[in-house]
Amino acid sequence: EYERYRDRTPNSAEMAEELREVVPAGVCSTFRAYEPYPIHADRAAGTTIYDVDGNELLDFALNNGTQLVGHTHPELDDAVVEQIDRGTLYTRPSDRLEFAAQPLIDRWDAIEQVRFTNSGTEAVMHATRLARAYTGREKVIRMEGAYHGAHDPALVSKMPPLEQAGPADDPRRVRESQGVPESVPEDVLLAQYNDAESVEALLREHGPEVAAILVEPACLNLGLAEPEDGFLERLRELADEYNVVLLFDEVKTGVKLAPGGGAEYYGVEPDIVALAKAIGGGYPVGAFGGRREIMERIAADLDDGVATGAAHYGTYNGNPLVLCAVGVTLREILTEDAYDHVSDLNERLAAGYRDVIEDAGLEAQVKTAGSQGAVHFTDEPIRTFRDWQHVDEEFHEAYWIGMVNRDVVPHPHDASQQWTISVQHTAEEIDAHVEAFADLATHLFMA
Ligand code: PMP
Repeated sequence: EYERYRDRTPNSAEMAEELREVVPAGVCSTFRAYEPYPIHADRAAGTTIYDVDGNELLDFALNNGTQLVGHTHPELDDAVVEQIDRGTLYTRPSDRLEFAAQPLIDRWDAIEQVRFTNSGTEAVMHATRLARAYTGREKVIRMEGAYHGAHDPALVSKMPPLEQAGPADDPRRVRESQGVPESVPEDVLLAQYNDAESVEALLREHGPEVAAILVEPACLNLGLAEPEDGFLERLRELADEYNVVLLFDEVKTGVKLAPGGGAEYYGVEPDIVALAKAIGGGYPVGAFGGRREIMERIAADLDDGVATGAAHYGTYNGNPLVLCAVGVTLREILTEDAYDHVSDLNERLAAGYRDVIEDAGLEAQVKTAGSQGAVHFTDEPIRTFRDWQHVDEEFHEAYWIGMVNRDVVPHPHDASQQWTISVQHTAEEIDAHVEAFADLATHLFMA
C-alpha cells in the first residue's frame, strides 16, 4: 500500500521535499508530518480534498474535526465575504461580539459570559489561568494521555511512552518536548481518565493547592474514550467538595457531541468551558466561558500596568471576521436538523464498519458519539490511557494509508484521532466510505 501511495502522489512527494527546505519538516504543526510524506492540498470544497496530484479524497478528517460544517459552506462563505467588505480586524468591540457570544451562552448552562481567543491552546491556557486567579491556587489535576494544546504544561504526559510513564497509580510526569522547563511539571498532577478514585487521591493529598480539574468530557486523544457512568458526576462532586474549578476542555467535544457539547451530552455541568475548532466553522478561533462570578475575575483594567485580575490579552482576539464565522455557524448552520443528519449518518457509517469487521473477522471495535466516531483495532476496552497499549497502531497505519489509496481520508492521520461527519456529507458518501473499507479488508487484511 505504501508503494501505491507513492505512485498516486508524486507531486505531493516533490512538494514535500521542496517545502522541507524552507519550513522545518515541511509542515506547520508537528502532528502533520508522517511517513512517507503528507498529501499536499490543492483545494477543498464540500466534503472533498483535491490534492496536488489530481486525486479527489472524500474527507472525514475535516481538519481535525473543525469542519462540522464541511468545507466551503455557501452560507458561511457568503457571510464571511460580506464581513471582509466591512473590515477584518478592528481591535475594538462591535456588534459581531454579541453575534458570536450569545449562541454559546444559549448552548451551555455553565456559560454566562465568554471571552474569545484564536485557538484551543489559548482557550485552555487562559481558562487555566482564570481558574488559578479565581481559587488563588496553582496546581491542576489532569488526565494522563489527554491532549490540551501546545502550551508548556499541556505537553506533560499527553501521550507518554509507556516505558517512561511509571505506574498507573503514580504516573511520572513526562515532558514530551525539548524546551519545556524542568519546573513546569511541578504544577501538573496526573490522574487517570475514567478513574475518579485517582482524582480523589490527589485531592486528598494536595486539595488546598489545587485550582482545577482539567478534563475532556470524552477523551478524544484515545480515539473515542467515553466517560463511564458516574465518572464525570463524581468529578463534579469532588470539585464541589474541595472548592476546585471543574474545567471542561470542549475544544473537540464542544458543539460536536451535541449542541451544548459534552456537558449536554453527558449531563454534567462544569464551572469553566474551553472551546475552539468546530465553533468557528474552520476559522481560527477559541473561547472560554463560565459563570459570571468566575469570569469577572478576568482583569477589567490595569493598575500601574498590572492586570487587576487574570490577564487575557491578544491582538486578534474576537476579530470580526472570525466572530462572524462563529455566529453564522452556530445560529444558522448547526441547527437541530443538522445534528439529526450527522448522527444518523454516523450510525450508518458505524453499522457499515461493524459489518465489514465481522465479515473479515477483524479484532476491532467501532465507537460513535454525536458527529464523531472511531475504529480501534483491538477487542480490549479503551477506558484509560494505559489501555491504549492494546491498540495495534501498525495495523491502524496500514488501514489509514489503504483508505487514502481508496480515495477516503477516514480521520486525521494518527490512530488516536476520530472521524467527523459533516452537515454536507450524504448517505451515498457514507456508503462509499464503507465500500472502501470493505475493499481494503478483502485485499489487505485478509491477504
Ligand atoms: N484541547 C483539545 C482537547 C484538543 O484536541 C486540541 C487540539 N487538537 C487543543 C486543546 C488545542 O487546540 P488548538 O490546536 O486549536 O490550539
